Amino acid sequence: MRLALPKPVETALSRLEKAGYSAYVVGGCVRDHVLGFTPHDYDICSAATPEEMQKVFQGERTIETGLKHGTLTVLLSGMPLEITTYRVDGAYSDGRHPDSVQFTARVEDDLSRRDFTINAMAYSPSAGLVDPFGGQADCERGVIRCVGDPAARFGEDALRILRALRFSSRLGFPIEEATAQAAVAGMKNLCHVSRERIAVELSGILQGKDAARVLRKFPEVIETVLPELQPLMAGEKWDLTLRTVCAAPKDLYLRWAAFLRLCGADAADSGRLAHDLLKGLKMSAKIMDTVSELVAWQDADLRPETMQEMLMRIGPEWLSQLIPLRQAMRTATQKESPDAIARDAEALNHTLKALLDENACYTLAQLAVNGNDMALLGLSGAAIGETLHALLLQVTRGRLPNEREALLEAAKGTL
Ligand code: ATP
Ligand code: MG
Repeated sequence: MRLALPKPVETALSRLEKAGYSAYVVGGCVRDHVLGFTPHDYDICSAATPEEMQKVFQGERTIETGLKHGTLTVLLSGMPLEITTYRVDGAYSDGRHPDSVQFTARVEDDLSRRDFTINAMAYSPSAGLVDPFGGQADCERGVIRCVGDPAARFGEDALRILRALRFSSRLGFPIEEATAQAAVAGMKNLCHVSRERIAVELSGILQGKDAARVLRKFPEVIETVLPELQPLMAGEKWDLTLRTVCAAPKDLYLRWAAFLRLCGADAADSGRLAHDLLKGLKMSAKIMDTVSELVAWQDADLRPETMQEMLMRIGPEWLSQLIPLRQAMRTATQKESPDAIARDAEALNHTLKALLDENACYTLAQLAVNGNDMALLGLSGAAIGETLHALLLQVTRGRLPNEREALLEAAKGTL
């Protein structure tokens, strides 16, 4: 087997080898190559210690990423390459970190500490594929399987349980039976894993092509990390939720919104609960706000005629995401033809784009009158803002033109 590696990667491997240290690309990039995908980055592992690597790459720009853990980043032709010394992990007494790490001279030992067979392959142009656990066969068969005893591996690091679900969702591979059983049996240990890391894996699970299948197959695991969803998962809304997730584009915000849209008693309640849940996962303000707003507005009246008013209410960014969310919700109900749903969404997108292109008025700043004008009409205090808002609403509903004279006339009429 020959993999086409980027030139700087080949250079790094051959320079290490010429200096007498074996070196391989490893992990995700080998898996992606074997599966025919383009890797998004390349990890290199080597028998060289960080000090030895520094000598080999003398004169190049290096970043001391994690010398203690054996990692050095080298920049070759502008490409950052993370190079890590082969290592084996000591015992895991806390269910998330090894108590110690030890360098080793054999790549096979390094591969044996990795989570899944498909992630435990190494490759170099000179030595070919190193695959002691049948990763290539599992790639071809399409299965997620632990390296070694699954119960032990999940006991060492419970995050691997969610990683299994994430790779299963992303690649569309089922989880092999013994691994799946150990995942469910070991899920209690997920309480030792930080909320941030759980959040990353959940986002990965949700954005995968097989998210709905994974969520349906492992509800206990999801419930363990998100106990607030227990009522949703026990009820009949769960099925509709999964169909919405499945129908939504593979986008972080849209998948979370689809997942959480029915978590409360109604749209507003679900929006609040979604916000709290994402906050508990230490998600960014942007994710919390976007998802909770999308959920809260899920039932809004969306028609070409209401687009300008909706722009005023939630702004262009959220509105442009609300359209595909609504499309997914309608698809999930399985009552309408996909063509009709797609046509409606297209009309909404078209109207939205046209409004933005023609600089249609949807904010107070764009309104042809301002607070001074209202003061000259004799208004003061809160009445100024209220009147401007009322005018803006009429403009976005197409009942008033955004023209100074017409707006002043209308404002006088309210005095
Ligand atoms: P991605 O495309 O999502 O980056 P990846 O396989 O590169 O996939 P990373 O999280 O970047 O995943 O990890 C790189 C490699 O390190 C994995 O392929 C795996 O071999 C190993 N690895 C990562 N996390 C763990 C873990 N918790 N336990 C064991 N091995 C792990
Ligand atoms: Mg990676």
